[in-house]
Amino acid sequence: MRTAIVVGAGMAGLAAAGGLARTGWRVTLLERAERIVAPPTAVVLWPNGRRALDSLDPDGGWSAIASPLPDGGIRRPDGQWLVAPRTRSGGNGPVPAVVHLEDLYDALVAGLGDTEVRTGFEAATVRTGARRRPAVSDGRTVLEADLLVAADGIDSRIRAALAPEAAPVSSGFAAWQAVIPGYRVPDLSAEAALGGETLGAGYRFVSIPLGPHAAGKGGVYWVATAAGAARPEPPATQLALLRRWFDGWHEPVGELLAVTRPEELVPQGVRELRPLPRSFGFPSGPGGVVLLGDAAHAMPHHLGQGACLAFEDAATLRALMAGAAPGDALTAAVETYSRTRHPRTTSVVRQNRRMSAVVQARGRLALRARDAALNHMRPRMLGRTLDPVSDWTPPE
Ligand SMILES: Cc1cc2nc3c(=O)[nH]c(=O)nc-3n(C[C@H](O)[C@H](O)[C@H](O)COP(=O)(O)OP(=O)(O)OC[C@H]3O[C@@H](n4cnc5c(N)ncnc54)[C@H](O)[C@@H]3O)c2cc1C
Repeated sequence: MRTAIVVGAGMAGLAAAGGLARTGWRVTLLERAERIVAPPTAVVLWPNGRRALDSLDPDGGWSAIASPLPDGGIRRPDGQWLVAPRTRSGGNGPVPAVVHLEDLYDALVAGLGDTEVRTGFEAATVRTGARRRPAVSDGRTVLEADLLVAADGIDSRIRAALAPEAAPVSSGFAAWQAVIPGYRVPDLSAEAALGGETLGAGYRFVSIPLGPHAAGKGGVYWVATAAGAARPEPPATQLALLRRWFDGWHEPVGELLAVTRPEELVPQGVRELRPLPRSFGFPSGPGGVVLLGDAAHAMPHHLGQGACLAFEDAATLRALMAGAAPGDALTAAVETYSRTRHPRTTSVVRQNRRMSAVVQARGRLALRARDAALNHMRPRMLGRTLDPVSDWTPPE
């Protein structure tokens, strides 16, 4: 039987392991943590991400756990509209949706099928060679398989060994996320309850209502970003800072920050890979190694596409590997994976960088240029179906 090892049980690894297991691969999923735990946040699934998930597991019930993303528009901190909200239409495809990560992880874990899950295994080294199957080791045990999938995030040890040119660097800002459970959401006007995005000078705040599903229970997800590095202070101090920075911003920014508890705050310095790895696929013996998710293409979350691209990676991998037997067919599939995913990812990274100039604008002239540019960028920001980023469809 064809064997695959997937390293990393984040969204990318869980999706890839489930996809391969459903196409007749014997899969071992390795995770360094003692348990697979979803971060207590949420994620926006744009139409491309939803299509990828549907193709990975048509019975995954994604629609039941995700709620349509209301178009709350884009405002300035004083509440003035930069882009007014409109009714979203997904055309013939799925509409953008938001999902609590606990629900998404539960669904991805449920889709693992016969995958063997080994937690507490930290892959430290990788071995490849013209005549050898790829292998990973944690320093004690060596595990080898026909296919090795590196989904071990931005600090991937496997990518560092195979594509050392790609280095994680700071994106120049920090992010804070939180989910306020439904029973503690403050009373908000109908307009503010829709959520939306607010852009200040170097600051950004996005709020999104979660649906009435298991983990969301009518709560609100918010994400704030500010120029600068990750803060070293304890969460309570960081929350106090956020309340000060966003003081005076229109409803619901202050209201949501006021009810957020320090233990709900998920702070992080935002990083990206620069440059991207030259290749996402490395033949080895009768098979090879592929890079997936943030291990391949970590990028700042301006377009909210990191996880969606990871699901695209997993869906593409599943389609290419479905009929590939170890030997020439599998090494060709590893190369095709890279040839397919690299240009697609490069194009999204490029659009993300353009967006970076918009959302991180500071200074009077830059802010004026940003406001003028917003109307042109609106389709991209809001993931409409004509948008080349969201338009992706899975391979047959
Ligand atoms: C503020 C913010 C908002 C975002 N919003 C969105 C959004 O709305 N939509 C969207 O699509 N994307 C969004 N993203 C991006 C998205 O969160 C990431 O792209 C996604 O989480 C990457 O998943 P991953 O599985 O590749 O990596 P990770 O989530 O980092 O998972 C890697 C896994 O590998 C494990 N691991 C690491 N090293 C090893 C090792 N050596 N051995 C074994 N296991 C290992 C880790 O423990 C972890 O479980 C956002 C990101 C940020 C920062």
